[in-house]
Amino acid sequence: MADKADVIVLGMGVGGEAVAGALADEGLDVIGIEGRLVGGECPYWGCIPSKMVIRSANLIAEADRVPGMAGQSEVSTDFAPVATRIRDEATANWDDTAAVDRFTGKGGRFVRGWGRLTGPGRVQVDGTTYEATKGVVVGTGTAPFVPPIDGLDGTPYWTNREALEATEAPQSLLVLGGGPIGVELAQAYSRFGTEVSVVERADRLLSVEEPESSQLIEAVFEREGLQLHHGCTAVGVSHDGQAFAVGLDNGTELTAEKLLVAVGRRILLDKLGLDSVGLDPGARAIDVDGHMRAGDGVWAVGDVTGHGAFTHLATYQAAIAVRDILGQDGPPADYRAQPSVTFTDPEIGSVGLSESRARDGGLQVATGVTDVPVTTRGWIHKAGNDGFIKLVADTDRGVLVGATSAGPWGGEVLGALAVAIHGEVPVDRLRHMIYAYPTFHRGIEAALADLG
Ligand SMILES: Cc1cc2nc3c(=O)[nH]c(=O)nc-3n(C[C@H](O)[C@H](O)[C@H](O)COP(=O)(O)OP(=O)(O)OC[C@H]3O[C@@H](n4cnc5c(N)ncnc54)[C@H](O)[C@@H]3O)c2cc1C
Repeated sequence: MADKADVIVLGMGVGGEAVAGALADEGLDVIGIEGRLVGGECPYWGCIPSKMVIRSANLIAEADRVPGMAGQSEVSTDFAPVATRIRDEATANWDDTAAVDRFTGKGGRFVRGWGRLTGPGRVQVDGTTYEATKGVVVGTGTAPFVPPIDGLDGTPYWTNREALEATEAPQSLLVLGGGPIGVELAQAYSRFGTEVSVVERADRLLSVEEPESSQLIEAVFEREGLQLHHGCTAVGVSHDGQAFAVGLDNGTELTAEKLLVAVGRRILLDKLGLDSVGLDPGARAIDVDGHMRAGDGVWAVGDVTGHGAFTHLATYQAAIAVRDILGQDGPPADYRAQPSVTFTDPEIGSVGLSESRARDGGLQVATGVTDVPVTTRGWIHKAGNDGFIKLVADTDRGVLVGATSAGPWGGEVLGALAVAIHGEVPVDRLRHMIYAYPTFHRGIEAALADLG
């Protein structure tokens, strides 16, 4: 006989853990199933350890900026302290006992293993069937996408996981992929003294961001000595026991001690038994409505829904799914003001539509830009003040529909812009508010003036 519960959560990553914990808090009988570690990618191999490496790397860069600003400085680029902190403080050596205890402490029941739907409300793990009376929430996330490059398979290449489990910085690192994960880790390792090359298939890094963001980050990377290869792709990889050799389709041959594959994430639907509940296992992602319903008695949250691979998105969707399961009212998902931050230095924050996406969407668009170095705060800040604020306005409605905030604390400045877009604050009201002096966010006022 099947073990029964109110709700089964399949995949206890960021989104699943949030759903399972909140429903258990409400007194529901919840079974949480996780094949790897409760908490998912973010705390163990994603956001948290990567931002710990970046924080330390940025301190090294800041110390390098001391001469000419405040005296002299010389810092160690030893990687060991950050590797130790990741193990001790962030990932607890990849042990999720505390997270499991948190869930079971709320009354949740935890099952370690890889689950598969076998019919409406039914999930099987290692031959045992669990049955949910209210439904199943799928939050199975993504895995690193590893492209089929000749020779790559079988070599000791890194994904984000190995890159964040490393105990020392390699002498050289070749990064395949110039998206957010690739550029964040590329710059961080470079600041620990690693010689870094980045290979990106598109003609610019961070190709989903505004072109200005790509230009900015490329200029910074070139200044910091990273080697950039755009518009080309790896066609062959070999490893001789010491180093990688990577052949590009433009004939270039690159070598490096380590190879990081960061060309995107893959949503793995084929092993979830989705067809048993009437969903398409061949789809790109699990299609959900505004309340995270994927079908009768099936909800999905997080990366698996294909709305973007962000922790803040997974937790946002989790709260919506919880409300829906509990029969509570609340607004459906609204992705107009979806933010993202690439934690390079300068940080690249963006929200809503880029200029080209707004134009492609048929909007009447005006843009306004201000460069951080010409703002008062940017001028004061000097070393490390690269950045800009770009606004994208829908002139018919007189509201912002997109914005980029790149610069020191660009992700924090983004907050004001996200509120403006989410709240559809009229541009005219934004022009007539008070911006604290001399802050980085005051650059918004200058960009508004540039909107015309
Ligand atoms: C290097 C890196 C840096 C990142 N930095 C940021 C950042 O700064 N900010 C940000 O917002 N996001 C960041 N992200 C993205 C963020 O980690 C993800 O968006 C987030 O973890 C998604 O949560 P999720 O619950 O959808 O999936 P996941 O966290 O991937 O969790 C899914 C869980 O489901 C489990 N699972 C899968 N299939 C099954 C199955 N059949 N049975 C049982 N369990 C299963 C998996 O083992 C996993 O634990 C980063 C990601 C990476 C890789």
